[in-house]
Amino acid sequence: CNVKNISIIGASGSIGTQTLEVLRSEKEIKLVGASVHSNLMVLRSMIEEFCVMNVAVTDLKVRDDAELMLSTMGYGGTVHYGAEGLEAIATLDEAQVVVTSIVGMAGLTPTIKAIEKGKDIALANKETLVAAGGLVTDLAREKGVMILPVDSEHSAIFQSLRAGNHSELRKILLTASGGPFRGKDRQFLSKVTKEMALKHPNWAMGAKITIDSSTLMNKGLEVIEAKWLFDVDYDDIEVYVHPESIIHSMVEFCDNSIIAQLGTPDMTLPIQYALNYPDRHEAVAGRLDLFKAGRLTFEKPDRETFEALDMAYEAGRAGGIMTAVLNSANEEAVDLFLKDRIGYLDITRIIGECLRRFDQRITPTLGNILEADREVRAYARSMAKG
Ligand code: NDP
Ligand code: MG
Repeated sequence: CNVKNISIIGASGSIGTQTLEVLRSEKEIKLVGASVHSNLMVLRSMIEEFCVMNVAVTDLKVRDDAELMLSTMGYGGTVHYGAEGLEAIATLDEAQVVVTSIVGMAGLTPTIKAIEKGKDIALANKETLVAAGGLVTDLAREKGVMILPVDSEHSAIFQSLRAGNHSELRKILLTASGGPFRGKDRQFLSKVTKEMALKHPNWAMGAKITIDSSTLMNKGLEVIEAKWLFDVDYDDIEVYVHPESIIHSMVEFCDNSIIAQLGTPDMTLPIQYALNYPDRHEAVAGRLDLFKAGRLTFEKPDRETFEALDMAYEAGRAGGIMTAVLNSANEEAVDLFLKDRIGYLDITRIIGECLRRFDQRITPTLGNILEADREVRAYARSMAKG
């Protein structure tokens, strides 16, 4: 029997709903479990369309509404709530693969639980590897599970790496669109509003990653994600700004061959690849017309204006829990910016302050990471008041 059972944590977001789109064409992949945080509309339509028999609603504020909706629908499956509900969906006996499409650190614990239960991970939630890359990849090796990248750059690297051996790999060339403020200076950035930062030139994504793309923190997080996924040194990961977002990343081998993966900017492609790996199926994503694309261009990132990129490299090189500190500080600062509590340049200012304050090279155990998360967020919030 070729049917593959999957569950999705964070099914109602941008990646979650694009995963559902892929499932519409993939008749041999069955959705057996799904979580939403608060979006009951997606929950309802997903149950109706995919007959998913295990669901979780993680935001307890909407529990009553969810109960009412599900009983009115006459839902006959199992319903879970809160953090335990999330864990239940991540560890379902019948699922072979868990798609982690939650945003932020909330994805870490359920991903670890899923790996402990031997599930392969289709990983969109990059914060998991930024906060706890060593821990998670060691555990995955120990349990013999695969971490299949969904992030488009990492999927491109993963696909390109099949052209050679790891010992022949020299460098990863990570591409970046440059975001909506490419070419702008700090004077301009000081006046950036939420509305301006939420408009990405090439990709439609959730709010947090859209802000991260505009500060280049997204690329910084992806550098750390690549380090752990592909077991490379930070010195061997180089960022290329490629505004057309056609090449999704490249790898360079020891014989100077550079192998790239190209496609339209459409996340259904890397999602579909992760779900079918090592096979390829008929496309859900649109075809790339290279004549229409015309030119492919590359530039160096402006590291002085967009400080977040080097902050990520520095945190990565420092080791310990510093990438977890970077991640938590960024999550909190972006949240404060989205709530109009701080200005745009305060995002990186706050992250920089947190990195200075929490410069402790302590062992990155799950306990230490979760404790640092609480402390860093409280400190970041205190700076917003100041
Ligand atoms: P969205 O904001 O669109 O979706 C987030 C999902 O997580 C929703 O299902 C949301 O539920 C759920 N969620 C939010 N907070 C919590 C919480 N505290 N506990 C449990 N679930 C929660 O994000 P994206 O889909 O854009 O991104 C998801 C992840 O994928 C991120 O880590 C991002 O970096 C990564 N990624 C995204 C890409 C993209 O194109 N969007 C590309 C590459 C990576 P609800 O909506 O019900 O409230
Ligand atoms: Mg990406």
